[in-house]
Amino acid sequence: MNVLFVSSEVAGFAKTGGLGDVSAALPRALGARGHDVRVVMPMYARVEEKDHGFERVIREGDVELGGVRVVYSVFRATLPGSQVPVYFVRCPSLYGRPSIYGQDGDEHLRFAVLCWAALQICQRLRFSPDVVHANDWQTALLPILLKSGFAWDRMFDRTRTVLTIHNIGHQGSFDAGVLPQTGLGGSAHLVHGDQLREGRFNFLLTGILYANAITTVSPTYAREIQHDEQGVGLAAFLRERREVLFGILNGIDEGEWDPSTDRYLPATYSLADLAGKEACKHNLVTTAGLPYARHVPVFGVVSRLVWQKGFDLCQKVLPRVLAKTGIQLAVLGTGEPEHEQFFSALARRFPKQVAYRRAFSEEVAHLIEAGADVFLMPSRYEPCGLNQMYSLRYGTAPIVHKTGGLADTVSHFDPRTGRGNGFVFEHFDEGGLGWAIGQALAAWGSGRGKDRERWHALQKNGMTASFGWAERVTAYEQVYRLVAPGRG
Ligand code: ADP
Repeated sequence: MNVLFVSSEVAGFAKTGGLGDVSAALPRALGARGHDVRVVMPMYARVEEKDHGFERVIREGDVELGGVRVVYSVFRATLPGSQVPVYFVRCPSLYGRPSIYGQDGDEHLRFAVLCWAALQICQRLRFSPDVVHANDWQTALLPILLKSGFAWDRMFDRTRTVLTIHNIGHQGSFDAGVLPQTGLGGSAHLVHGDQLREGRFNFLLTGILYANAITTVSPTYAREIQHDEQGVGLAAFLRERREVLFGILNGIDEGEWDPSTDRYLPATYSLADLAGKEACKHNLVTTAGLPYARHVPVFGVVSRLVWQKGFDLCQKVLPRVLAKTGIQLAVLGTGEPEHEQFFSALARRFPKQVAYRRAFSEEVAHLIEAGADVFLMPSRYEPCGLNQMYSLRYGTAPIVHKTGGLADTVSHFDPRTGRGNGFVFEHFDEGGLGWAIGQALAAWGSGRGKDRERWHALQKNGMTASFGWAERVTAYEQVYRLVAPGRG
């Protein structure tokens, strides 16, 4: 099939979270299956700064939105680890900024232009997609554009659309006054009337209404977002489209995240020989300036430090646990000042137990996944989550809240049966998290002898599971075939 995959971030070029990981791994996997996949993303400043072997393929394109003429050029590079071409829309006035997302008041224009440019690139390259795959609100205008501004072009006659919701918490909801600057000013009748009457225009909603199929990143999240409490205002629209709404669990890049080959680690390891994991723990703890002891469990966190991730619970629970039990904690993450300050203060209060790195670092992320014994991920909600899967693969037992993709990948460990790969709490409150940490510490026990064997059984359950893209990609192919039958 011909697939146009459009995303605001692609790992290897620009990434803030799981969206970027998926937007690299899925096109790579589709390409390996023989599909002609083309990826389109913006040329952010950070992308342009590096030498990705760019080649200019379109000298000048332009789009006029609400009386504003935006001129851009297009460069091509290859998605690492594949033959898949990535097309970068270069427009410095919109994308040449230090951060990927911003609060400059023109986010609607930045991503409307991305959608328009993506379809214009198809026209210029004579690439007729069977499927246009949009991701999150930033590219959710693609389905409606195919029914409005691009409806005249016969080359899109057979084009069908898929929208993947990676996080319904971000919707691109703007004042309705932005409508002309999306290029939909003349097609207002296609935009949801109630929204406009309320003075709002919601990018994600137009995608939900007009995509031929909608996917989200885990089966549990697909159910959750149809409930009013978790659908963040869009549940009713999703319920109406439930026949074409599918939950497909994200995979992980098993080449990038493999403890037996990981280039970031001081020592590699596998289930058959976990000595390297102990060396990673030693390295993690000592380079963080903490004293090392084999029997002391090290908890790890790698995360955006935001409300969604449940760190308000940690604020209530961790000081008590640290004081009482002597566990150690290694945290990597940036985000809301409240959470950054909490972990900084925690490191000052427990200088022998807690280390906090306020940074975004692939290397440290790998070191924590490998060096920690337990991975803490108490997300309030989690569409899929990748870190818990990395943890399982690295023999690092995750503690998770039973929500979204965490519920689909982590099962509670029962020491009697030896089943389960982590620790799962149902009630999102202090008691729930405290209970799960207690369960993890009980399973850890003394960290020696027979207790160690029990822990090893838990690690094995995680390390032997498969989370690769090979299985996931066929689920996407099924959705593509459903919307575009007879193709591919
Ligand atoms: P989300 O997309 O909500 O941030 P996911 O678990 O789906 O959550 O994906 C997060 C991705 O971002 C993972 O690959 C994780 O390792 C990475 N990540 C998050 N924070 C950091 C950080 N501070 N340094 C390095 N990688 C990070």
